[in-house]
Parts: sequence; structure tokens; C-alpha cells
Amino acid sequence: MLNIVLFGPPGAGKGTQSENLIKKYNLVHLSTGDILRSEVAEKTALGLEAKKLMDQGLLVPDEVVIGMIESKVDSNKNANGFIFDGFPRTTAQAEALDQLLARKNTSITRMLALEVNNDELTKRLLLRGKDSGRADDRNEEIIRKRIEEYNSKTAPLKAYYSSQNKFTGINGIGSIEEIFERLSDAIEKITA
Ligand code: AMP
Repeated sequence: MLNIVLFGPPGAGKGTQSENLIKKYNLVHLSTGDILRSEVAEKTALGLEAKKLMDQGLLVPDEVVIGMIESKVDSNKNANGFIFDGFPRTTAQAEALDQLLARKNTSITRMLALEVNNDELTKRLLLRGKDSGRADDRNEEIIRKRIEEYNSKTAPLKAYYSSQNKFTGINGIGSIEEIFERLSDAIEKITA
């Protein structure tokens, strides 16, 4: 199996690149942000709780997202592999993911991290907010909060995967096509 953690701060381009990668490598895309937004749209109990945190740019509790990922991995038994997008976001989530995959006799192949500076991120998110309909992309204050959450809780995962020799940084500035090519080259090197 090819199991990729596509990593990077909000606005790094994880969603867009995941869509390209799943087509090229025949993988299943698991985005906790997308799953949460569909729970919010359906007004489930989980969605209503999560929305309060999402609207403030805060992370939802680990056990909520871990449970979501477990059930999605379970329901895709014959997958070639997964792109994890926006998950894991904390060390507890990364540990739970390792344990879940080990139970399935597989593991994370590699973390690919899209690297983009803060000014570019804020610019991209505000632009996206104009047509994505996402409340959390429209307000500069909330964007700052999301980047703060990323820096304090999520950025340490770089060290987590580095210590397993599974970290690859990718320059996340450029056209969508250029960045896709960098990601594909990295995957081909790993699988060669
Ligand atoms: P995203 O679409 O990945 O930017 O996620 C949007 C929002 O959903 C985040 O700001 C969090 O509130 C929540 N969220 C998504 N994924 C996670 C996760 N793995 N852990 C905690 N909260 C998450």
C-alpha cells in the first residue's frame, strides 16, 4: 500500500494536490476537514459540536477525528492506499494512526510536507474565502488562529515523522502543476 500523509499549514494546497494524487496513484482521499464539513452540513450532533470549534479556528478533539478516520479506513478495505489530508494534526492523532495501520498490517509510507510562508498562506486563504463559502477562510483573525494552532500542535509532527525517517519537505510555492510534479517525483523516488 502507498499511504501518504500530505502535510502543511492551512492554505498550503493539500486539498487541491490530494485530488490530483488520488487520480494518478489510484488512492483514497481522506480529509478530516471535508468529513467534518459534511457533518456540519447535515447538522448531525457531531457536526453541530465541531462547528463551534471550527468557526473559531480551533482543532476538534482528537477522539472525534480518530474515530472518523478509523471508520473510513475500515470501509475502504481494498484500497491501494490512502492520502491523509489534514490528519494527523497532533501527536496523539499520529500515534493512533500508526496503531490503526499496524492493525491492518500496513504503515505510513511517507509524510510529504508542502512548505509555504505565512504571508503567502494568509493571501491564499483570504482569496479562497471569497468563493469557497468557508466561514473560516473569510476572517483574518480566524486564519491567524488556525495558523497558530498549526504551529503549536501540528508542526511538531515534522519531528515525529523525521524520527521514523519518513519526512520529505516539498516547496509549496509555484503553479499547481509545478507543485504536483514535485510531489509525483518524490513519490516515484520513494516507490522506486
Ligand atoms: P481543514 O479543512 O483541514 O483546514 O480543517 C478545517 C477545520 O476542521 C480545522 O480548522 C479544525 O477545526 C477541523 N479539523 C480538521 N481536521 C482536523 C484534525 N485532524 N484534528 C482536529 N481538528 C480538525
